[in-house]
Amino acid sequence: MSMNEFLNWVEARSPKETEFLQVIRETAESIWPFYESKKELYDNRVFQCMVEPERQLVFRVSWVDDQGEMQVNRAFRIQYNSALGPYKGGMRFHPEVNQSIMKFLGFEQTLKNSLTLLPMGGGQGGADFDPKGKSENEIRRFCNNLMMELYRHIGPNIDVPARDMGVSEREIGYLFGAYGKIKNDYTGVLTGRSLGLGGSPLRVEAAGYGNVYFAEEMLSTIGESVEEKTVTVSGYGNVAQYVIEKVNELGGKVVTVSDASGFVHDPEGVNGEKLEYLKEIKADRNGKVSDYADQFGVTFYPDQKPWSIPCDVAIPCANINDIGEEDAKALLANSCLCLVEGANRATESKAAALIKESNMLFAPGKAANAGGVAVSGLEMSQTSQRLNWEIAEVDDRLKKIMKNIHDQCVEYGDNGSKVDYVKGANVAAFLRVAEAMLSRGLD
Ligand code: NDP
Repeated sequence: MSMNEFLNWVEARSPKETEFLQVIRETAESIWPFYESKKELYDNRVFQCMVEPERQLVFRVSWVDDQGEMQVNRAFRIQYNSALGPYKGGMRFHPEVNQSIMKFLGFEQTLKNSLTLLPMGGGQGGADFDPKGKSENEIRRFCNNLMMELYRHIGPNIDVPARDMGVSEREIGYLFGAYGKIKNDYTGVLTGRSLGLGGSPLRVEAAGYGNVYFAEEMLSTIGESVEEKTVTVSGYGNVAQYVIEKVNELGGKVVTVSDASGFVHDPEGVNGEKLEYLKEIKADRNGKVSDYADQFGVTFYPDQKPWSIPCDVAIPCANINDIGEEDAKALLANSCLCLVEGANRATESKAAALIKESNMLFAPGKAANAGGVAVSGLEMSQTSQRLNWEIAEVDDRLKKIMKNIHDQCVEYGDNGSKVDYVKGANVAAFLRVAEAMLSRGLD
């Protein structure tokens, strides 16, 4: 089967699943020559097996809102691949959640988890539920009712969900509480729990810190570092906040943050009490990023993205396809040194192709934001030990994991003039999953 025949086959089986098809195409394009060269994997059609999720669950969540009205949502759990360990991946609460986005995230997660070298398979779940504007009681009722079905399908050695967009420590707490009540069992079935519920130190910070550790590794390949660099960030949620915190700690300056309504430009940098205020408005479900501009007298640009602001490093931490072709052109025109995806698949295909032809370094989310799931994996180990490690120990392990992911990208992606991080991450991740699948017997 040629690559085009393979892509046509996938498309015929999953028509109109745009995000899913996009990620399969991108992965196929970067691994295909390597795949063909690995005769045992190729002849056994391991990649064809890998793109099909092992199990896909879709279920109704009905719940009563504060006005007494019945509300209906659709929830998902995609148990994508368990070759390397129990399924592992986030739960996303966002109105745009659909089958295509869940499959895309589950496949990416399988590869991302492989890069961490921890024993975790890949999965993803979520619901088309919008937490914005909902009361605390409504959120709790929704989480309880979702778990009424999900509990049948998860477990510490089966599938361990975690947080993702719209799901914070608070929602994980409600989901964890509901699971415990239904099963009469206090067990580490979700990660991203608060410390009081047996979570890991540094889990909240992990994705953002890990991103910046990865950016440091990338910059070091061209003799640079984060110190004194100007950084643009999109989003202002969990990943964005801790990217900003770590950039500040390393002596850089973050000058933008955004939400779905526009972006804020703060030329002096988002730091100190300003960063604390940003965290507060995000924690308030009715907060918006323009509140920051009002509070500190800086400019808010409605309905715009931050990528036209000159920067050395760009870290998109909001949603998929955040950086389009024109945004990539703006980054290149401003001589941005490196683009590090905090959000999964933040860069559209055409934008990624433009960047690939340039000198700008570009790291895909599956490599750069793997710190979140890596510390989730460390949380699973701590739960099994019934111990909490010190912050310094978790941070040290996180740094080593991010460096190791970077090393794998270099090993498989260095083309002599620059590192192709997309190819390097895809090939390294694919190889580990594929070999595990083969050695477990494919059928
Ligand atoms: P949060 O829910 O905490 O924050 C998401 C942020 O993105 C919010 O600021 C939100 O703004 C913004 N946003 C959402 N949609 C858009 C849009 N269309 N345009 C502009 N801004 C938008 O999520 P996280 O920070 O946890 O996750 C961000 C990304 O990082 C996701 O893609 C997630 O999958 C990925 N990720 C997260 C990890 C984690 O551990 N948290 C780990 C690895 C990846 P608004 O308030 O308007 O919705």
